[in-house]
Amino acid sequence: HHSVLLASRPHGEPTPENFTIERTPVPEPGPDEVLLRTIYLSLDPYMRGRMSDAESYDEPVPVGGVMVGGTVSEVVASNSDLVTVGDFVIAFTGWQEYAVAPANAVRRLDPSRAPLSTALGVLGMPGFTAYAGLLEIGRPQPSETVVVAAAAGPVGSAVGQIARIKGARAVGIAGGPEKVRYVKEELGFDVALDHRSPDFVDELAAATPDGIDVYFENVGGAVFDAVLPRVNEFGRIPLCGLIAQYNATALPEGPDRSPVLLRRILTRSLTVRGFIQREFVKAHYRQFQEDMAGWIADGRVRYREDVVDGLDKAPEAFLGMLRGTNFGKLVVQVGPD
Ligand code: NDP
Repeated sequence: HHSVLLASRPHGEPTPENFTIERTPVPEPGPDEVLLRTIYLSLDPYMRGRMSDAESYDEPVPVGGVMVGGTVSEVVASNSDLVTVGDFVIAFTGWQEYAVAPANAVRRLDPSRAPLSTALGVLGMPGFTAYAGLLEIGRPQPSETVVVAAAAGPVGSAVGQIARIKGARAVGIAGGPEKVRYVKEELGFDVALDHRSPDFVDELAAATPDGIDVYFENVGGAVFDAVLPRVNEFGRIPLCGLIAQYNATALPEGPDRSPVLLRRILTRSLTVRGFIQREFVKAHYRQFQEDMAGWIADGRVRYREDVVDGLDKAPEAFLGMLRGTNFGKLVVQVGPD
């Protein structure tokens, strides 16, 4: 049984040396616990934050600790009436092949309802992040313009498709021609743009002739700088993620532009609201699952998964995601379904 541990804290961009693989005996479940075999491990941008000991909304992974993460697992031993051997569950047991968890900390999945991996993507945390952030904070109205970056990923792809379901125009931003084509042609966004294009600022202006009403913020950095001047009066900015700055080790060079940002928020009456998806779980998760399952069934929401084979590939795949080498929701197939 293998686990991936945090070997050291990164300074700037993480490297493979920040991880180490450990081999230990399979653990034994105690009273009211279950032994789980990992099938899929979710890799998500927030894990960069857990590698760091900077102040955040969650505790860091200790050096030498197992990397955290959501999993889809099979119950292989159970000391509880809540779950039975052979059940598939969603758990949070991290980057490892086997794990013991309290039975009340896992939730059963019905493999006949949807492919198991979707519980980590479109029907799980990232899909819910898009749903709650867009509908509770962004509140797109018919014919408004919604802009989102990382648009080929699980959060951004759902944001644009839900925006269209609500009657808004969706403008997606992604890295490279393949992702741009996918966002426009397969996901059905009204426009898709490449943030690496030398003409990106002009292309964004041409794509948003009536300005931007909702900017769902996933990335920060140069994309935010291009978007901000185009946000309309009473615009809403759900602040979901800032992946362009997760590896930053210092503030950017140059004059402090925060007065420009604050002035823009004031003079355009903008709402900028940060959120961590779990604040919305209690009130909205059930409705999300119903709505999203329906939208997938009737073809209005499409999704793509990027499945990497083998736990030993997890560090490399995770490092790639921070640079955009993933194409779709990144999951590791740790063991057979
Ligand atoms: P993705 O699978 O979309 O992966 C991240 C993507 O970010 C990359 O593929 C890359 O796409 C893009 N990216 C990386 N660097 C840059 C950059 N400098 N400029 C522009 N784009 C960049 O991830 P998710 O859909 O899982 O997550 C998207 C965002 O949502 C992240 O910021 C994440 O932290 C946040 N999040 C927040 C949650 C919350 O509760 N607040 C919950 C879940 C996610 P490309 O190749 O297109 O550039």
